[in-house]
Amino acid sequence: LERDALFRKKHNIHVSGYNVPSPLQNFNELSSRYKCEKYLLRNLVELGFREPTPIQRQAIPVLLHDRECFACAPTGSGKTLAFVCPMLMKLKDPSKNGVRAVVLCPTRELSSQTYRECKKMAKGKKFRIKLMTKELSRTGDFSKFPCDILISTPLRLRLAIKRKKVDLSRVEYLVLDESDKLFELGLFKQIDSIIKACSNPSIIRSLFSATLPDFVEDRARELMHDAVRVIVGRKNM
Ligand code: ADP
Ligand code: MG
Repeated sequence: LERDALFRKKHNIHVSGYNVPSPLQNFNELSSRYKCEKYLLRNLVELGFREPTPIQRQAIPVLLHDRECFACAPTGSGKTLAFVCPMLMKLKDPSKNGVRAVVLCPTRELSSQTYRECKKMAKGKKFRIKLMTKELSRTGDFSKFPCDILISTPLRLRLAIKRKKVDLSRVEYLVLDESDKLFELGLFKQIDSIIKACSNPSIIRSLFSATLPDFVEDRARELMHDAVRVIVGRKNM
């Protein structure tokens, strides 16, 4: 659509892939187009988020259409909400069916930051959101308590998988955040085994990063099928 193309250009959004969903004009479209629940809209208002950032405008609809997404936008451009918002909408309600969403972050600091942001966005809904602590990775047993969303570094999650204390076979939603850093840390093996453990065939994977070096592009192409690629600004900012 011509209108979408102009709107993307205005916001410096570049897309590739077939049938890319229209970008969000505003957050109200979350309810008019996607029947977003009130708690989420209320949290956006409470956090003072009035307008979606460019990456949110495009990545949110892509993920809400169940398309895999490979997204690149500068640091500080609101990538966390770009994957947390559709994740909460897709999970819809808390359940006791095991881990349904996994967010991988390169460092402990970034995982706890993402965890806090996720809690804020989920306020008013009783999702069980867990941060993989050292303790949990070493002695925790995820079959013993409900967990909808799990946020972890690759090493800690890998440890829990090895101990057979976490079942990822029902994960519907996997995010590799700051994937440029994730792959820089040389965690290919750990990440691969986590991806394999997430064996649900209808899983939606997404990759977010601030820069787009060739090794990230290559990995993204290996990992995802028919992913929509969304780039805000230039490739290597
Ligand atoms: P990134 O992951 O791209 O580096 P973050 O997701 O950490 O960026 O977001 C950076 C900051 O912008 C955070 O403080 C976040 O709360 C804020 N933020 C996110 N989305 C919006 C928005 N739509 N409007 C205003 N501030 C926002
Ligand atoms: Mg981030």
